[in-house]
Amino acid sequence: MPNTRGADEALNWVNTNSRPSELRITDMRVAEITGAPFTSVLLKIYTNQGIVGLGEVRDGASASYALMLKSRLLGENPCDIDRLFRRIKQFGGHGRQGGGVSAVEIALWDLAGKAYGVPIYQMLGGRFRDKVRIYCDTDATVPSGTETGKRLKERMDRGFTFLKMDLGLMQIADVPGAVVAPAGVLEAYRHHPGRGSVKTIEERRARNALYDSHNVAHPFTGLNFTDKGIDLLEQYISEVRDVIGMDIPLAIDHVGHVSLQNGIRLARRIEKYVPAWLEDVIPWQYTEQYRQLQDATTVPICTGEDIYLKEGFAPLLRSGGLSVVHPDLLTSGGILETKKIGDMAQDHGVAMAIHMAESPIAAMAAAHVAVATENFMALEYHSADVAWWDDIVTGLPKPLVKDGFITVSDKPGLGIDDVVDEVISQHLQPGVTGIWQPTHHWDNDYSWDRTWS
Ligand SMILES: [Mg+2]
Repeated sequence: MPNTRGADEALNWVNTNSRPSELRITDMRVAEITGAPFTSVLLKIYTNQGIVGLGEVRDGASASYALMLKSRLLGENPCDIDRLFRRIKQFGGHGRQGGGVSAVEIALWDLAGKAYGVPIYQMLGGRFRDKVRIYCDTDATVPSGTETGKRLKERMDRGFTFLKMDLGLMQIADVPGAVVAPAGVLEAYRHHPGRGSVKTIEERRARNALYDSHNVAHPFTGLNFTDKGIDLLEQYISEVRDVIGMDIPLAIDHVGHVSLQNGIRLARRIEKYVPAWLEDVIPWQYTEQYRQLQDATTVPICTGEDIYLKEGFAPLLRSGGLSVVHPDLLTSGGILETKKIGDMAQDHGVAMAIHMAESPIAAMAAAHVAVATENFMALEYHSADVAWWDDIVTGLPKPLVKDGFITVSDKPGLGIDDVVDEVISQHLQPGVTGIWQPTHHWDNDYSWDRTWS
């Protein structure tokens, strides 16, 4: 008798309702939520065989970026992931504009995994690790490094082994003599352009003007740290290190919209506190400035959360301007593209951390890539204070992030059973009236989109 026990066990995961070669996409719907920790859009892609793929549009992005792709996907086999990705990838862009294509790509992987009964990491080539190290991001809005240090110490007590905090302009903006600023420029950063409906044209113009203020790139703001400002920022990280010690990795984000030269001054000053990396000091498009920044300091330089597709990372990696790439799966193009970005970075001797600030759907998509990519370092988690975060889905361990790690199971696809409608219904974005509502008006969206002739 042949030993069939292994095969019998494998059948536990096989979806016997599914005939993968005949699987077809029939619908796409969304749930627009807020507070987990920011706004994001949960995505479902439905099929003719009852299985549903889960994806997520990036924090801060519009559901339209995903829904406009519906007419390009209906009737297709979702298991043809790469073919469909290449069809739709022209509709993505950098930053939040990559959110729709990336959400769809992740849902296609979830469907393929569920149809064939395999976890996504296995389809990417298998495991480099069983557990995914999490880095806990903490907004450092309080003016005291000691207080922020205490918050970070609480994270350590919960088991986190890798931390990130803010250090920059907004911590010292209110201190007289800490920042040189053209009149009015700092004011814009104290407010964020609102969202939702506006009542008057004046309100809309004011919102757009504020958006334009936030959209001035670092070299053009005219903002400079004074020596006093740099002293205060050094004191801040010094106080944090006094509380948390020197042994735990601490990454630094949100320096503010200051120039390359200010970034170099800050980087050099904080070298002795050994940051894990310094993130997004200048816009990622300035490849040559990144090279100058990394050449000027021993602090590892990092960027990538706003870069769409691996092509955007290539010039930075070739320049030597990076020590850590930091793609966000919900901007980069999704699962396979991020695996490719990680592998390309590895060829340049550069590590990959992963940016993530959404629900367990985004977290699991990133975790599968992290398991399957050799140079992975740590995955962001921004929801340590969101009590209902684990309750958004079923089928995952609770809590998902345990002792600072996510453990990825052998379950098919992302490993998530379902989204819990009762939970997300309590956290809808302003103006949203329901979840998984019909999207028929997107069924026939059409234009002649070829980008060459
Ligand atoms: Mg960041």
